[in-house]
Amino acid sequence: LSVNDRAILINAIRDIPDFPKPGIIFKDITTLLSDKEAFGVLMTHLHDRYVSYDLTHVAGIDARGFIFGSALAQMLGVGFVPIRKKGKLPYTTVSEKYSLEYGVDEVEIHIDAFSAVEKPRVLLIDDLIATGGTAYAAANLINKVGAECIEACFVMGLDFLSGQSKLRDIVEVYTVIGV
Ligand code: AMP
Repeated sequence: LSVNDRAILINAIRDIPDFPKPGIIFKDITTLLSDKEAFGVLMTHLHDRYVSYDLTHVAGIDARGFIFGSALAQMLGVGFVPIRKKGKLPYTTVSEKYSLEYGVDEVEIHIDAFSAVEKPRVLLIDDLIATGGTAYAAANLINKVGAECIEACFVMGLDFLSGQSKLRDIVEVYTVIGV
């Protein structure tokens, strides 16, 4: 990513202090999505990185990972698979729990999500990695249903949290911009 393109992306992401609760700086990507230049810079960058990875699918994490993931899947000419919060997917699912600061959450994938291809090679994508708990569970789900998670990709990484190093135990990690 060039210095100029990096600046375009950083400038297009909006910081919302104290959302959804005090002390959190929420990284709002709606302003990036509505900016055709910034959205284009990001998607071209992701396409150029992954075009040679020989992927069969992109899997996006609920809900902002769906936006980047489905756009990228189309650009790469591969399928898209949603990884959703518990209770949203209609067919038989495999699920994985993960701990939050307070309590637990759960993500799910359809059991047959990748069954149409013999050796699924999957890119996992989300907008942001913080503690890495969500992505760790999602990467495990991809492996549980018989696919290979080739890399986990994030538009942003909160580099002051240690989430990325834990995730690196099970999958390659790429963040477009560290914040
Ligand atoms: P984590 O499991 O802690 O890595 O949290 C990652 C998930 O929470 C992603 O799906 C993000 O979209 C969301 N998230 C966590 N922190 C933020 C933040 N500061 N701004 C925007 N989204 C966030």
